[in-house]
Amino acid sequence: AQQRYSSLRNLPAEAKCGSRISLLMNAGLMADLPSLVNSGADGVGLFRTELQFLVRTRVPRRSELAAIYARVMDAAQGRPVIFRTLDIGSDKVLPYMKPQDEPNPAMGWRAIRVGLDKPGVLRMQLQALIRAAAGRPLSVMFPFIANAAEYTAARKALECALAHETALGRATPTAVEVGAMLETPSLAFAPNSFFEAADFISIGGNDLKQFFFAADRENERVRRRYDTLDVSYLALIEQIIDRCARAGTRLSFCGEDAGRPIDALTLAALGIRILSMRPASIGPVKHLIRRVNLKDLRAVIDAARGDGAQTVRPAVTAWLARQ
Ligand code: PEP
Ligand code: MG
Repeated sequence: AQQRYSSLRNLPAEAKCGSRISLLMNAGLMADLPSLVNSGADGVGLFRTELQFLVRTRVPRRSELAAIYARVMDAAQGRPVIFRTLDIGSDKVLPYMKPQDEPNPAMGWRAIRVGLDKPGVLRMQLQALIRAAAGRPLSVMFPFIANAAEYTAARKALECALAHETALGRATPTAVEVGAMLETPSLAFAPNSFFEAADFISIGGNDLKQFFFAADRENERVRRRYDTLDVSYLALIEQIIDRCARAGTRLSFCGEDAGRPIDALTLAALGIRILSMRPASIGPVKHLIRRVNLKDLRAVIDAARGDGAQTVRPAVTAWLARQ
């Protein structure tokens, strides 16, 4: 499949209406990085750092992590890489961590909640990222931010780590941006000040959808029960798009749906301009975006909603077949 789309590799994901969509890839291991060049991705929109912790038998050392992060940035050859801090707990249990006996781990002590309650590992990871990015820009995003206060606290941890490196006389990144993953419906309703304070926001659709519909993403019986193109979910996405636009805050969508061509087109038609997906999806998604007019698609989506559809998928699919 990669081969089939290789002629598109150096072409932009520009729709017939002129809208340009930035296609980024998700990664987590060094082995993913050759895909960055092969897929034609504009950068890494989500680097899942927990994978480096999951493949080990102990907590990695700061120097080890800094070396890995520096190699990731080297391999990106100047393209942006967004590092997501540890998202452990829930489905990702570290072999060397005391298992938490939680009835609902997906809604339990995970991700930034662990990072803020036990700041040692987060601090170490932030220091490793800062050291790896010395002399170049650094993008960090915090997972599973559920309210503005968590974003503020996480950001403060990064600022403290930066101040510490400066006090030690070490070189620091040339610029630092701090983003939040929007993965719980609550964050979509945070005060404006949050949307203004965040340097960027990325919708983690895998988690956001499971919490919006209260349907476990790991439970085969319910995980496909609600459509990503359900009108209620699209209304939530639109609200986030609108709030980010008003605040002038960059918005991206990562999570598996960004790599599903029809879903990706719909997100783009609603106004999402940055999609981050598995590398193999970049070609197919780009191919489709280049074939369509997103303004026309938007009209089709609005008409389906006006007609009282539960999901806009049949309308989008039928329209696409006519293109
Ligand atoms: C998400 O929830 O959409 C996401 C990108 O994070 P993860 O799949 O790692 O939970
Ligand atoms: Mg998630």
